[in-house]
Amino acid sequence: MLLLHGQTMLYGIFGYPIGHSLSPLMHNTAFTHYGLDAVYLPFAVPPAHLEMALKSIVALHMGGVNVTIPHKQAVMAWMDELSPEAHLIGAINTIHLRDGRLHGYNTDGIGFLRALEEAGSDVAGCTVMLLGAGGAARAIAVQLCLSGIRRLYLANRTLARAEDLAAFLQQNVPHADISVVTLGEASLAAYLPDTDIVVNATSIGMHPHDPMLLPPYALGPRHLVCDIVYRPLHTPLLRAAQRQGARTVDGLGMLLHQGAKAFEIWTEHAFPLALIRARLLEAVAE
Ligand code: NAP
Repeated sequence: MLLLHGQTMLYGIFGYPIGHSLSPLMHNTAFTHYGLDAVYLPFAVPPAHLEMALKSIVALHMGGVNVTIPHKQAVMAWMDELSPEAHLIGAINTIHLRDGRLHGYNTDGIGFLRALEEAGSDVAGCTVMLLGAGGAARAIAVQLCLSGIRRLYLANRTLARAEDLAAFLQQNVPHADISVVTLGEASLAAYLPDTDIVVNATSIGMHPHDPMLLPPYALGPRHLVCDIVYRPLHTPLLRAAQRQGARTVDGLGMLLHQGAKAFEIWTEHAFPLALIRARLLEAVAE
């Protein structure tokens, strides 16, 4: 049972809406595991109240917060310090109050990378096909380029958004080799033989009748296929990839590891990964 005291440290997540977040489950499990006198709450913060909510981190002397949709970009303006990744990505998912100052971080990209490492994959020297150019794709693209991949194929429904992201990466990450490719079966089939890792960072896969964004017949044992969608866990893309003999990584790993990195920033403790993964698996199965 959770016991709160006069000294209990408050953490939380700011988003709108926020009801489906799994972050309270993860962080409260970790606090309890370590016997830390801390609690993590979900806060539904409408955009008009964002500034007030951020000021309350200081006023209430909170330990820190996570930030999710739709506030990840908007909060940048109120940070006193930014990590290099947050600066490059242009979005924040973790805030730490340290010495009365708000420090902003983005742990999504590192979370994705750790999930791949856990699956035994080192991205250095790999060619990666990334589907999507939204917030999550941007975090992943920056981290991949910082981690020494050989080449990035970038595909997105709205081509201009992929082109903007590619131009940004080429300007800001030395040696980034990026090609924007059209999101279509024939186009992607042409690039898959040269690809080591495929990443779906779009929201496609969440609904049963979502289209398949790439041709499953062009996938094979040379590919590692990652989906960052975690509801459902076994997306149509991952099922198709497994049928073709490809290795797969589901979206739970990124969720787990972005939380782990935030927890390390706040508490200097490592997430109890196995315990939290088990809790997450129960939650997404519900
Ligand atoms: P976002 O910024 O809204 O971006 C959505 C992306 O999906 C864009 O690239 C968008 O393309 C694409 N898209 C949407 N509908 C599409 C369609 N019908 N056909 C083709 N492409 C379509 O969202 P986000 O924050 O990047 O999140 C993307 C997904 O990742 C969500 O499902 C989210 O739950 C998941 N996610 C998972 C984790 C994790 O820890 N596992 C972390 C963050 C996000 P356009 O640019 O053309 O609109």
